Amino acid sequence: MTVILGGGISGLSAAYYAVNDARLSSIILLEASSRVGGWIRSKSSPSGATFEQGPRTIRTHGPPATNTLNLIEDLKLNDKLISVKINNPVAANRLIYMDEALHRLPNSLTSIFKTISLLDSPIINRVWTDLKAPKVFKEDESIHSFIQRRLGQDIADNIISPMICGICAGDAREISVNFLLKSQFEAEQKYGSIVKGLLLKRLKKFFTKSKNSNTDNTPVVESSALANKARQEHWIMWGLQGGLEQLPQVLANNVKERGVKIHTEKKCEKLTFKSDRVELLVNGKSQECSRVISSLCAKDLGKLLQEQHPVLSTELKAIPTVTVGVVNLEFQGNVMPLKAFGFLVPPKENLPLLGVIFDSCIFPQSSTVLTIMMGGAWFEKYFGPNPSEEQLLTTAINHTKSILQIEEEPIAHNVAVLKDCIPQHVVGHNARVKRIRDYISAHRIPLALCGSSYDGVGLNDVILSAKQAVRDVTKL
Ligand SMILES: Cc1cc2nc3c(=O)[nH]c(=O)nc-3n(C[C@H](O)[C@H](O)[C@H](O)COP(=O)(O)OP(=O)(O)OC[C@H]3O[C@@H](n4cnc5c(N)ncnc54)[C@H](O)[C@@H]3O)c2cc1C
Repeated sequence: MTVILGGGISGLSAAYYAVNDARLSSIILLEASSRVGGWIRSKSSPSGATFEQGPRTIRTHGPPATNTLNLIEDLKLNDKLISVKINNPVAANRLIYMDEALHRLPNSLTSIFKTISLLDSPIINRVWTDLKAPKVFKEDESIHSFIQRRLGQDIADNIISPMICGICAGDAREISVNFLLKSQFEAEQKYGSIVKGLLLKRLKKFFTKSKNSNTDNTPVVESSALANKARQEHWIMWGLQGGLEQLPQVLANNVKERGVKIHTEKKCEKLTFKSDRVELLVNGKSQECSRVISSLCAKDLGKLLQEQHPVLSTELKAIPTVTVGVVNLEFQGNVMPLKAFGFLVPPKENLPLLGVIFDSCIFPQSSTVLTIMMGGAWFEKYFGPNPSEEQLLTTAINHTKSILQIEEEPIAHNVAVLKDCIPQHVVGHNARVKRIRDYISAHRIPLALCGSSYDGVGLNDVILSAKQAVRDVTKL
């Protein structure tokens, strides 16, 4: 019997890939809460507008994205899918709020030759800065320090730092460059410059492609008709009409129909690996299985292993997380001054906002819907340990109305504190994950890992990590 821990999108995806694998019979998924979906949660306002409390858009670039579109096609969710194409204004208009004004991120070839308001000199000049900057040999460093060294302080502060807030609600001074900008970092380490390294990599790819060989380690994923359509029509992202929560719901129904047993309100409290079985303590009662796939946040898994594997437990618990305050607002009619994806706020602005997503610009609705993300790596600094919903709501409304110059009051809202919702891949992350995986394999523990703590926080990453975890567990 295989037990999957956690009924978020990773755990459900693991169930989907496991049930497709004839080697794995009898699959049980245990979810601590009363619902499946984890951080994916869609709500409706009284007028019927969609409020996404967690994720809303899924990227279309690369093999992990193709893999998700294949899943969507298999789940027959194509009709619900809303795509955003490259020529949509939201694709070009991504904004930064700095020095009390909104600034557009460079979005065209011509803009890299101009001095834009966010930077001291044109981006093109940074090619020269990068080529001149000495190579510094390192195993890893923070993204901020790497970008500052190679491209300049203004890019690190005004572009990269807010982008990290948007990707993982994190602090660019802590997030690992070797994890999040791996190819740029490797370009410096191998060739002494980002520009030189990336150019040489492209050339190499071009020449070896013509000989039909796969040069990098990216997984090869077959494309479904939907994935091909996304490529042909130049989609940059997609979502689901009526809310993304339909994805885990449909996925749960799909695997249940194929024999997976999903048990909600079943919290795993302890794992003990015996020579011939795994003992689980679930809601105070003992249970057995032959192997475990964990989709839990590393910190939570660490607690379950503390007694039997303290070294592994310490490594897992060392992967930090941040808390995000999410406020969805609905305004009557269209109150937006411009059409854009949204804006991000550089941490140096010292504002509690990480950014604001213009939901109804991305996926049009009959009213204006905005989502304000707050706190992240700075949650306690701005809100303390236990802020009230009122405090979060007032902060969100005041800043958003003032920045976007909206006179109207919202007609509906939703407030949530998502505690420890995003793992942080901090400096040294790759080495830590390798130590974790090496420990599991050296001790022959029948445990495979998936989810946002290890190989990326995006939905595409965690779904692909579930596929890999199923492969890993069948090898045990
Ligand atoms: C605010 C926010 C916005 C985001 N926006 C985007 C976006 O737009 N696009 C994108 O691609 N990604 C986005 N992400 C990232 C993405 O949503 C997450 O990485 C993903 O949902 C994580 O899924 P998961 O299944 O790995 O983890 P989770 O969703 O955390 O699921 C884990 C599950 O395990 C359960 N559990 C915990 N402990 C136990 C236990 N002991 N026993 C049994 N069950 C347990 C939990 O209740 C939970 O249901 C966003 C994330 C957040 C928080």
